[in-house]
Amino acid sequence: MSKQLPSRERMYKALITKDASFEGIFIVGVKSTGIFCLPTCPARNPMLKNVEFFSTSKDALYSGYRPCKRCKPLKANGETPKWIDTILQKVEEDLTRKWTDEEIEEMDINPNRLRRWFKKHHGTTFHGYVRLRRLGNALGQIKHGENATQVAYDHGYNSLSGFREAMKELTGKPVKKGKDTTVIHINRITTPLGPMLVGTTNEALCLLEFIDRRMLETQLQRLQKYYNCTFVPGSNEITELTANEIAEYFDGDRQEFTVPLDVPGSDFQQQVWNELKTIPYGKTRSYKEQAIAIGNLKAIRAVATANGDNRIAIIIPCHRVIGSDGSLTGYGGGLWRKKYLLNLERSNLKEITESNGQRSMW
Ligand SMILES: [Zn+2]
Repeated sequence: MSKQLPSRERMYKALITKDASFEGIFIVGVKSTGIFCLPTCPARNPMLKNVEFFSTSKDALYSGYRPCKRCKPLKANGETPKWIDTILQKVEEDLTRKWTDEEIEEMDINPNRLRRWFKKHHGTTFHGYVRLRRLGNALGQIKHGENATQVAYDHGYNSLSGFREAMKELTGKPVKKGKDTTVIHINRITTPLGPMLVGTTNEALCLLEFIDRRMLETQLQRLQKYYNCTFVPGSNEITELTANEIAEYFDGDRQEFTVPLDVPGSDFQQQVWNELKTIPYGKTRSYKEQAIAIGNLKAIRAVATANGDNRIAIIIPCHRVIGSDGSLTGYGGGLWRKKYLLNLERSNLKEITESNGQRSMW
């Protein structure tokens, strides 16, 4: 779970004084080099405008940063064991490699021990780590905070083709060429719950998902299938609108969204997603109630699956569906996020009701 970070100024001060008491508190990403470091890294101090702070190395990886070779930020509390170093090196040599337990054993590494090490130190599995390095590699091509087309102009065709190559590795399909191909702009936005990936056509938003979500690669593959599209790093008006509305939502200043959506899927999925949009801000419904609402009480399981297949997190509010007993049950983006979103909406509603009540007293 993400934790609250100290102020930017405080962390920057800790960074330039190499204050060891901040180890474990923050990780710093250096935009100009694309590398992330520990607070005490012996490398030269970056400028304040070039740094981005994260609470965990996982967040830095998801944002496309590579671990620094000098301070080795992946070694949480002490040296990385040699066997971990060996396999990390292999991972970097070929990010597309899909690791089987047999291959891991061939390196004299116990797959269970490997899993436990990654869980303990990085809160993710080994395969989760490989996935996020692959994604980080693709997303790293999108310069931090830079606008899309700008990226292509500034860095030439090479960076664009690098991105396409990386996306091809993710989606497993050759890149389409030709004028009829739909272009999906891919960019990332930051939120209090971690970075999200935004995918937009020229007309609508078609993807909004937390970057560490396991389903993300599958969702990108589905988009490719539905649109027969090519992915391009960057943003357009729809991206900007999405970024603004999501920021307002997290600030508690927005309850409804105006971004146009395009969500190709089966008739059933469409029905489920449309029904989700009718759940009011700050309210919840059970899967059963959702199944009844679409006129098929028996479809509870299918409703839950279609919920999980939602590609537009937050805006199509699948987080507002809970178990019949009131338990939060599953959420693709992680239960802690679901809890955060529901709390945000409820406390904001309460505030609005209270301030209205006060006004009526006058
Ligand atoms: Zn470093």
